[in-house]
Amino acid sequence: MADDALPDLTAYDAVLFDLDGVLTPTAEVHMHAWQTMFEELFAAWDITPPYAERDYFDHLDGKKRYDGVASLLRSRDVEVPWGHPSDPVTADTVCGIGNRKNAVFERVLRADGISAYPGSLRLLDALAAAGTTVAVVSSSKNAEEVLAAAGIRDRFAVVMDGVIAERDHLASKPAPDVFLEAARMLGVEPARSVAVEDAISGVQSAAAGGFGLVVGVDRGAGEEDLVEAGAHVVVKDLEEFAR
Ligand SMILES: [Mg+2]
Repeated sequence: MADDALPDLTAYDAVLFDLDGVLTPTAEVHMHAWQTMFEELFAAWDITPPYAERDYFDHLDGKKRYDGVASLLRSRDVEVPWGHPSDPVTADTVCGIGNRKNAVFERVLRADGISAYPGSLRLLDALAAAGTTVAVVSSSKNAEEVLAAAGIRDRFAVVMDGVIAERDHLASKPAPDVFLEAARMLGVEPARSVAVEDAISGVQSAAAGGFGLVVGVDRGAGEEDLVEAGAHVVVKDLEEFAR
C-alpha cells in the first residue's frame, strides 16, 4: 500500500499496541534465554544431541512456556514430572525448568537490555505530540520488565499484560477480552481506537473486539494472512506511519 494511503492514526482517540514484535524485538531475548537455559541443562544431564537453534522453531516458538519445555525434552527422550507453576527454579519438573527459563530471560534482559524498534519509537513520539492516548496489550507476563528495560514504560497510560489477564481471568488472544478491557481502562470506544498487532491471533483478537482500525505489522506472519485475520492495513514497520 502506498504511504499516502495509510490512515492517520492521530485521528483516533487511542492506539493500543501489542508489545513483542510490535514495540520491541523481544523474540531474540526469548531465543537467547531458551538457548542459555537448555545448554546448561543438557550439559548437566548429559543430554544429546546438544541444543540447536532449530529446537527453538521446532519445539518452543509460539507455544506456552511449559508445553515448549515438555515438547523439547520429549524430543530427547527425557521425561520429568509436570510439577506445578509455583515450582522453584531448582525443581527438575517441566514447570521448574520453564520457570528457570523465565529467570534466565529476566537476567538476559537486565544484562543485554532491549531497544524498541526505531520506527515504533518514532510513531510513539508522533502520537505523543498529537496528544493521542497509547496503551500496551500484551499476553506476556514480562511486559512490565520489557517496557522498563526499553525505557518506554512511562509513555503508556495502561499496560494490559499476562499478569493482569490471569488475575482477572481474561481469555487470551485470539479472544477480544484483553483488548476490550484495555480500552475500557483507557475510557475509549474500541470503534474509535486503533489496535496494532504482529501475530495472527492478536489481529484476530483486535478484529473481534470491533476496533476502528486494526493494523498488522508483518514481521514474518505474512501480509495475506494478517489481512485474512482481520487487519485493515498491513505495514512492514511502524516507521511507515511516522513519516
Ligand atoms: Mg506480538
